[in-house]
Amino acid sequence: MAGVIVWIETSEGKIRKVTREAAGAGAKIAAAINAPLCAVLFNGKDLLPELGNLGFSKIYTADGPAFEKYSGEVYAEALAAAGELSGAEVFLTGATALGRDLSASLAARLDAALAIDVTEIIYDAKPLKVVRPVYSGKLLAEVELTSEKKVISLRPNVFPITEKPAASPELVPLSAGTAAIRAEVRKAIKAAEGVMDVAEATIIVSGGRGTGGPAGFKVIEDLAKTLGGAVGASRVAVDEGWIEYSHQVGQTGKVVSPVLYIACGISGSTQHFAGMGTSKFIIAVNTDPDAPIMGKADFAIVGDLFKVVPVLKEELLKVVK
Ligand SMILES: Cc1cc2nc3c(=O)[nH]c(=O)nc-3n(C[C@H](O)[C@H](O)[C@H](O)COP(=O)(O)OP(=O)(O)OC[C@H]3O[C@@H](n4cnc5c(N)ncnc54)[C@H](O)[C@@H]3O)c2cc1C
Repeated sequence: MAGVIVWIETSEGKIRKVTREAAGAGAKIAAAINAPLCAVLFNGKDLLPELGNLGFSKIYTADGPAFEKYSGEVYAEALAAAGELSGAEVFLTGATALGRDLSASLAARLDAALAIDVTEIIYDAKPLKVVRPVYSGKLLAEVELTSEKKVISLRPNVFPITEKPAASPELVPLSAGTAAIRAEVRKAIKAAEGVMDVAEATIIVSGGRGTGGPAGFKVIEDLAKTLGGAVGASRVAVDEGWIEYSHQVGQTGKVVSPVLYIACGISGSTQHFAGMGTSKFIIAVNTDPDAPIMGKADFAIVGDLFKVVPVLKEELLKVVK
């Protein structure tokens, strides 16, 4: 018996987009090994109707206070229990902050191969192979997962969502929640109301040192709002206190992969590129034609962001409309 299990990650009572992406990738792995696609859902009975079109044949559920707050140990115990029941050999998560943490706990528990921040899966490879960026995105490593069990964490916004015909997956309650907790989430600090998370945004407008300060970020926020996108930032902008850390993109910030990334007043350091290099289309606005980002962008505009961005907004609006 074999199979694929996807962890249904939720945020504020909603299924995270990367979970839907993982379901699509999981369905392809399951088809390649001719095995069922299952899911594990914690305290999420209300979400079951939304899971009917993601291709799961079984959903393992675990409910109760033990699953209310994220715990690497408790969640990994439950996923391992679902793996035991189903005989699953592949476990998929989204490479979010929690998904990365859970993947590591689960892999340690199962003595499984672990690949985090995966951007490609070679579905027909035996053993399964995945591709992930290494050395701050300078290289792509093709990794062969040779152990029997494999834990794979997918970079958000890379894999397509493939919805399936509506179905009613079988529900299987898990008896879990007894793992010893060595690290406890005490407090979750909510982002300000209406602030979009860069990790899952399809459009990101980012500002760097070139914005010159918090007032300069207004032009960035304005463009992001117009395009329905999120606001990103370089580390310099965050370190200067112009914008909160949750917006930082890069090696020590968030890794993003939007359809459109607009870098304004950002030089394009290796560390920044590590966080946005897999964006599908990059536009750079910079006064310096020789800034590294200009060579990496699909579309490079040489000019002062305070003059260019408002014009860009008007032009992009025509396309978006
Ligand atoms: C271990 C480590 C981890 C790091 N992690 C990260 C990370 O996660 N994310 C990150 O971003 N950085 C990270 N850094 C920092 C990184 O090395 C760079 O210092 C940083 O990315 C530079 O930010 P910046 O592009 O905003 O600033 P700068 O490099 O100073 O570039 C500013 C750019 O703005 C342009 N400019 C100036 N005025 C204007 C204007 N009016 N209009 C248009 N363009 C203008 C300039 O020509 C310049 O290219 C890390 C560094 C280290 C050592």
